Amino acid sequence: MLHFNFDYYDPSTITEAVQLFVKLEEERKNPLYYGGGTELLTLGRLNQIFTKAVIDVKRIPECNVLDVKRNSVVVGAALTLTDLAESKVFPFLGETAAVIGDRTSRNQITFGGNLASDIIYREAVLPLLLTDSTFVIAGNEGVRHVPVQQIFKGRLHLNKGEFLVQVKTDVQYTTLPFFIVKKRKSERVDYPLLTLALLKTNTSIRLAVSGLCEFPFRSIAMEKEINNTDLPLEERIERALCCIPAPVIDDIRGSSEYRLFVLRNTLFDGLTYLEGVRTWI
Ligand SMILES: Cc1cc2nc3c(=O)[nH]c(=O)nc-3n(C[C@H](O)[C@H](O)[C@H](O)COP(=O)(O)OP(=O)(O)OC[C@H]3O[C@@H](n4cnc5c(N)ncnc54)[C@H](O)[C@@H]3O)c2cc1C
Repeated sequence: MLHFNFDYYDPSTITEAVQLFVKLEEERKNPLYYGGGTELLTLGRLNQIFTKAVIDVKRIPECNVLDVKRNSVVVGAALTLTDLAESKVFPFLGETAAVIGDRTSRNQITFGGNLASDIIYREAVLPLLLTDSTFVIAGNEGVRHVPVQQIFKGRLHLNKGEFLVQVKTDVQYTTLPFFIVKKRKSERVDYPLLTLALLKTNTSIRLAVSGLCEFPFRSIAMEKEINNTDLPLEERIERALCCIPAPVIDDIRGSSEYRLFVLRNTLFDGLTYLEGVRTWI
């Protein structure tokens, strides 16, 4: 049970949603955009989130697109993780979505909700970071297109009143070889010890991780080391481990030493796999 009540709005257009936000903000209702509502429940019960009004984006048509348009795969923010997992349009994103939570929660959690989450993992961003995706953001000033590297630095940085409508990815990236592995402590369903995502382009292998540090990230410095094929694989991995951009998490799921051990082995598996795969672009 939540200890507070809130009004529920389900606008059917982008304009209606952003205008509602402004109105509710003026009424001091601390409005929140609403996807699957699972985080609102989880954090609301813990008194870590409070609102008097939510704006559900699920009826907005642009938020429900899952299609290829003008050489881009377009994925709406209101789609559930199950929608992504079952779609064949963007396999890297689909396989990443398929390891988040359990089936029941994936039926509820939305793409946009995962990306905008306060919970640190935000695993759905991993393939987006590696494919130079573009975020389509709506706000009172209109709709803007922003590269993932600018709008997602550890977390999604939106201005007040803005919401995520869609993500667009160049279709060329969606056919490249990838590796996505989630390592958990022991259960089949849990937050990750770490989730490693690799993408092989025609020039190099790209790397992003969730669960290792307090935020998901792509690391160009680590990529430089793993792609230095003048060195043996084990040495490239050791050098990459020296470039992790923030402290490694040390918690009940695993010590930082254990996480590094898991990363070392998972990187070995991923690089061995991708270096044996041909790239067609
Ligand atoms: C059982 C369970 C297991 C989980 N396991 C994992 C896991 O393994 N990996 C992982 O990464 N996460 C995991 N999560 C976390 C989950 O992905 C996040 O809590 C996510 O925010 C839930 O999405 P939602 O659609 O239900 O969000 P909501 O509760 O609707 O919203 C969450 C936040 O996102 C904002 N928001 C929602 N949609 C938009 C939008 N379109 N634009 C801007 N802001 C928006 C809301 O205002 C709110 O701040 C798990 C959650 C649960 C309940």
